[in-house]
Amino acid sequence: MNKSTSYGVSPVKARFFYFCMLFFGIVALITVAVNLLLGFAFYLNYKWLGLAAATFGLAWLARRATRLDIVHRVGVYLFAFVMLPLGWLSSSGLVSPSITYSFLVLLMINYLISGRERLIVNMLFIVLNLVLIALFYYRPQLFTAMTAREQFLDWMANVPLVLTALAVALTQFERAYERERMRNEDKARELEELSVTDYLTGLFNRLRLEEALRAAESGYARTGSPYSLLLLDIDHFKPYNDYYGHVAGDGCLKQVAEAIRRSLERDSDIAFRYGGEEFLVLIQYTDCAGACTVAERIRTAVEELAIPHQTSPTAPVLTVSIGVACSDSRVHKPDTQRDGGRLLSAVDSALYRAKSKGRNRIVVYEPSEVVS
Ligand code: GH3
Ligand code: MG
Ligand code: MG
Repeated sequence: MNKSTSYGVSPVKARFFYFCMLFFGIVALITVAVNLLLGFAFYLNYKWLGLAAATFGLAWLARRATRLDIVHRVGVYLFAFVMLPLGWLSSSGLVSPSITYSFLVLLMINYLISGRERLIVNMLFIVLNLVLIALFYYRPQLFTAMTAREQFLDWMANVPLVLTALAVALTQFERAYERERMRNEDKARELEELSVTDYLTGLFNRLRLEEALRAAESGYARTGSPYSLLLLDIDHFKPYNDYYGHVAGDGCLKQVAEAIRRSLERDSDIAFRYGGEEFLVLIQYTDCAGACTVAERIRTAVEELAIPHQTSPTAPVLTVSIGVACSDSRVHKPDTQRDGGRLLSAVDSALYRAKSKGRNRIVVYEPSEVVS
C-alpha cells in the first residue's frame, strides 16, 4: 500500500480496518449458519447477509481503493449509525450482546477517525447509545422479543467472539506498530546518512566534517592525542574538464575518492569531499610522520589510476597535490573555539605551497608559515 495514494493512512490503520471488516463479515456468516441450523425463518438472515456483503465489500475496497481515508470513514459511519442501531432493535436491546459490539465500534471510531470529526462522531455515538437505552425503557415493544434461552445462546456465542476479536486485534496491532516503528527508525537513519554523504563520491560531506573535526580537536585538547589533516586538490582539473568534459570529470572524482578510500587502513581515518575537486582526510591518533605515510599512499594510488590527462603541464596522468598539517606541530595550540579551524587553515596553506612548488607532491605545514 503506497502512502502517496492512500492519503496518509498508516499501514497499521489500514490493517485494523481490514481486520474489523473481515471480523464482522465472518460473524455475520456464522450467525446465518447458526440460524439455519436452528431452523429459524429464512427472512431473519437477510440483515446478516446484507452485513456480510457490506463488510466483505469494504474489505475488498480497502485493498483496492486509493482513497483509504474515505473507505475507512464509510465503514465507521455505516457501523456506528446504521448497523449498530439495527442490531440493537432487531435483538433484545440492553441485555443483548449488542452492547459489547458498541465497544468494538467505539474502538473503530477512535482508531480510524481523527481530529474534530472524531470528537463529533464520538459524541453522536454516545448520544445514539443513550437514545437506544431510553427507547428500550420507554418503548420496549420496538425491540425484538427474545426468549430467555435465545438470549442465553446469543450471549454465549457473541461474548467470546467479541472478546477474541479484541484480543487478536490488540496482539496484531502491537506487532504492526512495532514493525512500523522499526521501519521509521530505519528511514530516519537512512536520511541522516544521506544528509552527511556526498552524492557523487559517497564520501562524507562537510556537514559531517564539522562534527568530526570538533570531536578530534576536543580529544586533542583533553588528552593530547595527536590528529592530522590531509587536504587534497586535483591538479589542473579545470583544463581536464574543459578537454574531456564534465561527465568524464565526475568519473575522475569518483575514482579519486575510491583511491583515497582504498588507501585508508584504519577505521578512525575518515575521508570527506571538501569542495569541488578537493578532499580532506582526518587521520586520528596519528602524528606527522604517520600522516605523511598515508598522504604518500594516496598520492601514489591516484597516480597509479593512470587516468590520462593530456592538458596537464605536470604529468601525462591525473595527479593530486596534498597539504598535511598535524596537531602536534609546535604552533598548533588547541583552538579556543575547539572547532579545528586553526589546523584547517594550516593544512590549506600547506596545500597552497604544494601547488606553488610544482604540484603532484606532499607538503607538510611549517610552523613558520603565517596562519590566521
Ligand atoms: P590547480 O592545479 O591549481 O588545482 O588547478 P585546477 O584547474 O584544478 O583548479 P581550479 O580550482 O581553478 O579548478 C577546479 C575545477 O574543478 C573547476 C571545475 O571545472 C572542476 N570541478 C569542481 N567541482 C566539480 C564537479 O563536481 N564535477 C566536475 N566534473 N568538475 C568539477
Ligand atoms: Mg581547487
Ligand atoms: Mg585543482
